[in-house]
Order: sequence, then C-alpha cells, then structure tokens
Amino acid sequence: MTQFDYDLFVIGGGSGGVRAARIAAAEGGARVGLAEESRMGGTCVIRGCVPKKLMVYASEFPGEIEDARAYGWDVQAHGFDWAKFRGTLEAELTRLETAYRSTLKNAGVSIHDARATVMDAHTVELATGERFTAKHILIATGGWPFVPDVPGAELAVTSNEMFHLETLPKRALVVGGGYIASEFACILNGLGVQTTQFYRGAQILRGFDDEARGHVANAMQAAGIAIHCGTDVMRLEKTPGGIRALATDGSEAEFDLVLYATGRKPNSAGLGLEALGVALGRNGEVKVNDWSQTAVPSIYAVGDVTDRVNLTPVAIREGHAFADTVFRGVPTRFDHKDIASAVFTQPELATIGLTEEAARALGPTEVYAAAFRPMKTLFAGRQDRVLMKLLVSVETRKVLGCHIVGAGAGEMIQLVAIAIGMGATKEDFDRTVAVHPTMAEELVTMRKPTRVV
Ligand code: NDP
Repeated sequence: MTQFDYDLFVIGGGSGGVRAARIAAAEGGARVGLAEESRMGGTCVIRGCVPKKLMVYASEFPGEIEDARAYGWDVQAHGFDWAKFRGTLEAELTRLETAYRSTLKNAGVSIHDARATVMDAHTVELATGERFTAKHILIATGGWPFVPDVPGAELAVTSNEMFHLETLPKRALVVGGGYIASEFACILNGLGVQTTQFYRGAQILRGFDDEARGHVANAMQAAGIAIHCGTDVMRLEKTPGGIRALATDGSEAEFDLVLYATGRKPNSAGLGLEALGVALGRNGEVKVNDWSQTAVPSIYAVGDVTDRVNLTPVAIREGHAFADTVFRGVPTRFDHKDIASAVFTQPELATIGLTEEAARALGPTEVYAAAFRPMKTLFAGRQDRVLMKLLVSVETRKVLGCHIVGAGAGEMIQLVAIAIGMGATKEDFDRTVAVHPTMAEELVTMRKPTRVV
C-alpha cells in the first residue's frame, strides 16, 4: 500500500480550505498539510467581508452623529482620520490571521507558507521546491478581481487595494453594479468622498428583486452617490491632477481614484490542473460534482474557485461537507438552495429565496410589500424608507422569498431564513406575535397583499 506524506493536502488558507483542513484533522483524525501563498484567512478575512464590514461601520458614523444631534446631543464630526483607521484595521486583521493560524495548529494541521501547484493526482510541489504526496488534494484557492481590458485600466485599483490606500481620495469613480461596487460606493460616500458609480446595465444589483434594487438605488442617490446606469468607461487617462475617465455616454470627468469592481474570476490558473485532467469551465472555474469532487477522483475543490455560490458561509459549508464525507465517514452533500445573503450597502439589502420576478414565473404569487420611515431617524427628518417584502405562493401558501432594505436587514434575514428553510407559510408568519416597536414586526403584520402577480 502506498504511504502518503499526508491524508489531505489543502491548497488555500481561506474560509473553505481552513474549515476542511480543521475538520479533517481534528474530527477525522487525518494528517493534513495546508499551503497558503499569502496571508492566512483568505479573501474574506484579509481583503473582503471582514475589512469591508469594518469600513462600513466607519462610514456610518457621520449619519449617526447627525441623528444624535437631532436627539439633543451636542456633537460634531471633526473629520475622519483615515491613517488612524487603517492602522486599527490592520491590527485587527493581524489578530484574526494569528487566530486562524493557531486554530489550524491546534487541530494538528501543518502549515506551509508557500504557493503550491499540483504535479499529479497525489503530489503537490511548493514554491520552495519541496514536494509532498497526499491521498487527497483539496483546491480552495478562491477568486481574484477581474478588470476588463479597457485602455488605462492599470490606473484603477481593485477591492484588494482599497484597504491599503495611502490617503482617502476626494473624488472617486466606482465601476460595476454588483455587491462590491455598490458596497464601496456607499462606504466612500459615507466617508465624505464625492462618489460616482458607473454601471453598464439598466439598474444596479442585477439578479436581486427589482423593487428592492430600485429602492436601494434611490436611497444611494438620495445620499449623494451619482449613479450613472447604462454607462461604462471607454478610457482612463492620467492627468496632472488625477485620472480622467472618458465614458460611453460621451462625458468626461476627473477622479483621484478609480475602483474597478467588475466581478471576480476563479483562481485556478497555473496550478497545473488542466494537465492532470481536472475539468475547468469557461470562466476558469473548477468543475465539481455534488460532492465537490473533480474529474480526477483524488482531487476535490470548494469555495469561489468552483464558482457556485461565491459567499464565505457557502465555502465553509462546502469544505465541511467534503471533510465529513471523506474523513468522517458521514456522506454529506451541501444543498445550494435557499441561501440568504446581504449586500452591505447603505441601506442594507438582504434577501432569501425567490425574487418577485422568479416567483411570478413559477405561478400565481401574492406580493406583500411595505415601505415606511423608520422611527429612529424620523427626528433627524431623514426621508429613508425601509422596505419589507414577502412573496407567497397562492397555491401552497408558502413564503417563497423575503427581501428587506434598511438598517439591520442582514441581521433580520438570518432569522427569516430559518422559517423559510422550514417551509413556513404566510399563515405561520401571521400567527407570530409582533415584537414592538421594531422594524421587523412588519414581517408578521402585513395582512393584505399589495398585489397578486
Ligand atoms: P458581481 O458579479 O456581483 O458584480 C460584477 C459587476 O460588474 C456587475 O455589475 C457586472 O455587470 C459588472 N461587470 C462585469 N463585467 C464587466 C465589464 N466587462 N465591464 C463593465 N462592467 C462589468 O461581482 P462583485 O465583484 O461585486 O462580487 C463578486 C462576488 O463576491 C459576488 O457575486 C458575491 O458572491 C461575493 N460578494 C458578496 C458580498 C456579500 O455577501 N455582502 C460582498 C462582496 C462580494 P452585469 O450585471 O451587467 O453583469
């Protein structure tokens, strides 16, 4: 019998890889090696969800200070110290990175701080020249920002660089209309940066419920973000004062910073996968079956590199399911249905299940929607409205989707997701007594459908 150096070798120390390595080692008794070429923690911890959310918090304070004044507090924001914030942020990321390392070490995983490539179905080679054999190899290398081939694109930054800027720009252009673009447009605007967003389509946040997208876009515009839909960059040029963007609508404007947030691509190039017979899709995604297994039986892949649902909690569950299946004798397939998610725009957009458009295509649907001004910000005279929306199948009475726009939407949708996952009907929602006074009570007090579609 072949004796391998490891039972499992994981390439990539992000959300999916770390979870798989830990469970395989600590609960499956496997001998596990893990290689990470950058900082431990991956996109989510080092250059994604975590630093982004901390920036969201930082950018919300001006609004909160304004609200506080309306409540009688004698407070004034005297400007934002980017350098100070960046230092605190960096210290927090270092703390988290250390915590990830010690979790892996405590589980008995051997960490290799180097890039790894796959030599054959059971062998990896590190950039240091060392080679290891493993019974199983897990590809968990994540994704990387994609920047289209536009003249002058090298003048732009991606989300990777946003956490390390030397100074905060005065004028910023954000290109793209997805999660990252919309979140950063709000962050920059909140931090006092004059912000413009270009999106090539008709409305930002494609794929989300149309009414909810419109609601978010209107609120972003009202907060001062200049959103230009149907507009893209034709060319970027360096100028003495910054970067000039020439747009497809014929306009020209100068910015200090241009951020491209035009999607991400699976990080699968140069790993040696194609040569081994691991199938890759058009976008470079590693093709896997329901068990996250590639066309080469000893090689598995989880997380963004497989381009299924690119969210940290999904990568974690895929990694966990893989470890359960292969090392704990508990065959587990992760079901990608009904995954809740939140876009941390200001206001937040959170969603679970079907959009109105998708529900209507399946059959007659009752739409319950309420838009109202939240109590907290009324004193300040803010015009922001919260949107609560439920989609109910006329035939089964099941709640097929829920969309919330407003402060705390991400927190609320987490709980709605449990009910919807359990197959709750509208009558189950109605039976639930309201918690008063809250915004979420609207979810259980909408009695009459706004429309049936
Ligand atoms: P998205 O796929 O969400 O958005 C990409 C945007 O870029 C779209 O608006 C797209 O337009 C546009 N675009 C794509 N190609 C071009 C091009 N060639 N020229 C101009 N515009 C272009 O990707 P993101 O990078 O925002 O985020 C990547 C993934 O990361 C998300 O899908 C999500 O899964 C995850 N994520 C999750 C977050 C969360 O949970 N809060 C936060 C951040 C990221 P079009 O719509 O026309 O295709």
